[in-house]
Amino acid sequence: MGVGVNEHTPSEIQPSNQTTLKRHPERGHFDRALINSILDEAIVSHVGITANDGSAVVIPTLHVRRGDELLLHGSAASRLLRSAQASQICVTITIVDGLVLAQTAFHHSLNYRSVVIFGTPKKVTDLQEADAALNYFVDGLIPGRMADMRPNTEKEIRATTVLSLPISEASAKVRTGPPSHDPNEETSETWTGVIPITTRYGHPKTSNHSNSHLLPDYASNYERPTP
Ligand SMILES: Cc1cc2nc3c(=O)[nH]c(=O)nc-3n(C[C@H](O)[C@H](O)[C@H](O)COP(=O)(O)OP(=O)(O)OC[C@H]3O[C@@H](n4cnc5c(N)ncnc54)[C@H](O)[C@@H]3O)c2cc1C
Repeated sequence: MGVGVNEHTPSEIQPSNQTTLKRHPERGHFDRALINSILDEAIVSHVGITANDGSAVVIPTLHVRRGDELLLHGSAASRLLRSAQASQICVTITIVDGLVLAQTAFHHSLNYRSVVIFGTPKKVTDLQEADAALNYFVDGLIPGRMADMRPNTEKEIRATTVLSLPISEASAKVRTGPPSHDPNEETSETWTGVIPITTRYGHPKTSNHSNSHLLPDYASNYERPTP
């Protein structure tokens, strides 16, 4: 069980009117473990907000999952963080697994795993809780890193807004496998198949201003952690 997951949290998220898939509903999933695994593997989410003038805006940002909440953070001055708190937002998270080359351009596709979450995030107002959430951001991405850091100052904590979005109205959509096959196109000699896509972490590059030239274990063996 991940940090902060309530032991009574159901393993399936109940679909809502908003999260019921109409296009390719067979690709839809509401299994919390699957949704969590996508959130944990991806680093970037796209947050859809309604700006003050009523226009729709989608902004990319970092996220980290803590149990059954998604944490977002950023400058207290950011429009994203100011607009998102206490208003309806929509967050999408996408992992692309492959290019799918079919017999016809029409049937070309992607293999992917994606999540859409709707909800109203709450600002973490308590300073200690905000500090803990900020530390969780760092350790959630790079376990052990906070042990090498000085504590956040109150000024730093106050300059940063942390939002907590419940992962309670969410859907996953997953496409896997080969291209769809159209028997009417059998005469075509075109190659069909899947070109896989993977994201890899590379060898760390020490900064010119680093006070240490010894690579910490968490940097030299970097693997994205599974909470
Ligand atoms: C990397 C990537 C590339 C894609 N490229 C295309 C493309 O080029 N053209 C295209 O038509 N579609 C594409 N899709 C699929 C696209 O995300 C939508 O699922 C599709 O367009 C149907 O949209 P809709 O609003 O009509 O879905 P609906 O089925 O009407 O959506 C209803 C609800 O289903 C859920 N849902 C829908 N899509 C997703 C999703 N992807 N992930 C999680 N939950 C979802 C949401 O909760 C949504 O509110 C792509 C998906 C990914 C991840």
